[in-house]
Amino acid sequence: MRISEIFYSIQGEGTNTGAPAIFIRLAGCHLRCVWCDSKFTWDMKSGKEMSTAAIIKVIKKYPCKHLVITGGEPLIQQSGIKELLSKLPEYYVEIETSGTIVSFINEFINQYNCSPKLKNSKNRPMALQKFPEEKTWYKFVVDKKTDVKEIKEMIKKYSLPKEKIILMPQGITREEMTKKSPWIAEICKKENWHFSTRLHIEIWGNKRGV
Ligand code: SF4
Repeated sequence: MRISEIFYSIQGEGTNTGAPAIFIRLAGCHLRCVWCDSKFTWDMKSGKEMSTAAIIKVIKKYPCKHLVITGGEPLIQQSGIKELLSKLPEYYVEIETSGTIVSFINEFINQYNCSPKLKNSKNRPMALQKFPEEKTWYKFVVDKKTDVKEIKEMIKKYSLPKEKIILMPQGITREEMTKKSPWIAEICKKENWHFSTRLHIEIWGNKRGV
């Protein structure tokens, strides 16, 4: 697989925020979100080629059994992920995805963190694929109050489960997070949606490998 980086940290976003986890960041992404904090992954050639055995050797150094597979868009390399996870059945596996690629590896994934892209990402519109309802949370990156209308339209269009919607502020600095969090939290209270911070930004700022 083309690997951008592997590191041990805590999950900074979503329902497992605060959990220690090993991050496997895969190279390659077919989207171009303007606010992307992982632009260094976009090019497939940006990563280094690692065998399944070499990846497992790195993973086994760490004291937890919780994997977060991220990117880039990890589902581009799902055959490699399948081979890797078939050898790690004891691990809890979360995968971060834009939701634009059909997944054929549902049986190996415990949790999909699907992040449908709004217009604020400035990508061309792409259809949201279907993921197993019991395993999937939908995390929207919110930049402006007007994003809410689009989120509601998307929930309706794709029949997304309202109880598994998460809003997360767009921002890669503590200052941006602090500024946007209060009004986004108010929207979550009003709509009965979940709120997610970006804990790694709060703790370490905008750094790689943490
Ligand atoms: S989908 Fe993720 S990795 Fe790809 S451009 Fe958007 S934020 Fe960046």
